Amino acid sequence: MTAIQEPVSPADVYGQPYAYVRRELTEPDWRRFPGWREVTEAQWRDAQWQRVHCLRNARQLKAVLGDLVDERFYDDLAADQRELATMSMLLPPQMLNTMDVSSTEAFYADPVRRYMLPVRSDRDPVWPSHPHSARDSLHEAEMWVVEGLTHRYPTKVLAELLSTCPQYCGHCTRMDLVGNSTEQVAKHKLALKPVDRQDAMIDYLRRTPGVRDVVVSGGDVANVPWHQLESFLMRLLDIETVRDIRLATKALAGLPQHWLQPKVVEGLERVAGTAQRRGVNLAIHTHVNHVQSVTPLVAEAARTALDVGVRDVRNQGVLMRGVNATPAALLDLCFALQGEANILPYYFYLCDMIPNAEHWRVAVWEAQELQHAIMGYLPGYATPRIVCDVPYVGKRWVHQVAEYDRERGISYWTKNYRTGIEREDPDALARRYPFYDPITTLPEEGRAWWEARRSRP
Ligand code: SF4
Repeated sequence: MTAIQEPVSPADVYGQPYAYVRRELTEPDWRRFPGWREVTEAQWRDAQWQRVHCLRNARQLKAVLGDLVDERFYDDLAADQRELATMSMLLPPQMLNTMDVSSTEAFYADPVRRYMLPVRSDRDPVWPSHPHSARDSLHEAEMWVVEGLTHRYPTKVLAELLSTCPQYCGHCTRMDLVGNSTEQVAKHKLALKPVDRQDAMIDYLRRTPGVRDVVVSGGDVANVPWHQLESFLMRLLDIETVRDIRLATKALAGLPQHWLQPKVVEGLERVAGTAQRRGVNLAIHTHVNHVQSVTPLVAEAARTALDVGVRDVRNQGVLMRGVNATPAALLDLCFALQGEANILPYYFYLCDMIPNAEHWRVAVWEAQELQHAIMGYLPGYATPRIVCDVPYVGKRWVHQVAEYDRERGISYWTKNYRTGIEREDPDALARRYPFYDPITTLPEEGRAWWEARRSRP
């Protein structure tokens, strides 16, 4: 009789730094939460139920978690919201359900919790913000050609249709505009009525045939009433020169129930059919940062979008310390996206230089090491690029840095096109544009250099 052999992990055979093991996706059981013991499967799959039961403050969170988490966590959360949060709290049940609530320590350590429910003690105690951090650190509003339409790259625009999302991420780069005001941040408001803003965007695109690629975003397009979104997309599809349309929605992972509603699926099918007939690439871009978020419902939402004719579903994650900034965390996530959920791992962005984000940000050299560590495991086309979104430049692959002062943590970048506000600037293409590493990652001399500048009167 032949003995049954245990499968051999490639790591055991070749001593690989990362061992790929195929893992089935699972939807954690929400009934483990005291507040959701009676919630049925039908309720859980209902987008409206999810929206109504989103958690907006520590009191609501406590009503769901009960004694699973100690009082000190709620105090820590309240302190953060009072003193440092740049985003208000908005957490769909779907997202809370992917977190580990087996103990207070596990909840504190949970990677999804770390960016969706930041607490005071998470933040960097010495340098919570970099001296060069800024609201709207990418200067998107400065590059608006009409309200909400950022023309930064030569052939691409970003259309911000609204300033809300079904979930608010602690590290949101559009913290200037997106979400409700917090104790620390009075948000800017879009002034035009949505219909007027959309008209102005369409008008600009009709007048600007050099733009071929439109990222339709916000906020999150899942918060645009479907009939309005469909009408906007159909008008975009009427413009002959628009060849790529990408819909930006973290809700595909944060609230997949939204993208599974019959009226949304049917509408998406109409839009995708029109895009196919006109030869336009229609894609969904989502934002998943950790493998725990990739559940069967997320895979179902992505599969459904592909089934109705969307050409591709891609992921643009954000690289964050304590969340996913290790080779194993990135590869686990990418394999789940690519292998189990039909979502292409596309980009990981360095966390932008917004206020109070230093504890999440990683240095450029760390990002370079991570890029190196993840090469060669995934199919080449599904190996994500780690990119730095350099103010006034745009996305640069982390190895493209032109010059790098490691002691002070200042990297310098160049570019090969003018942004919308530099058409008359003769030096735009010759200039070097700086980006800054978190000060706590610097050697002692570098930290002292910044400290000396901070203490100057
Ligand atoms: S989903 Fe995107 S736009 Fe909305 S809060 Fe998160 S990062 Fe910001």
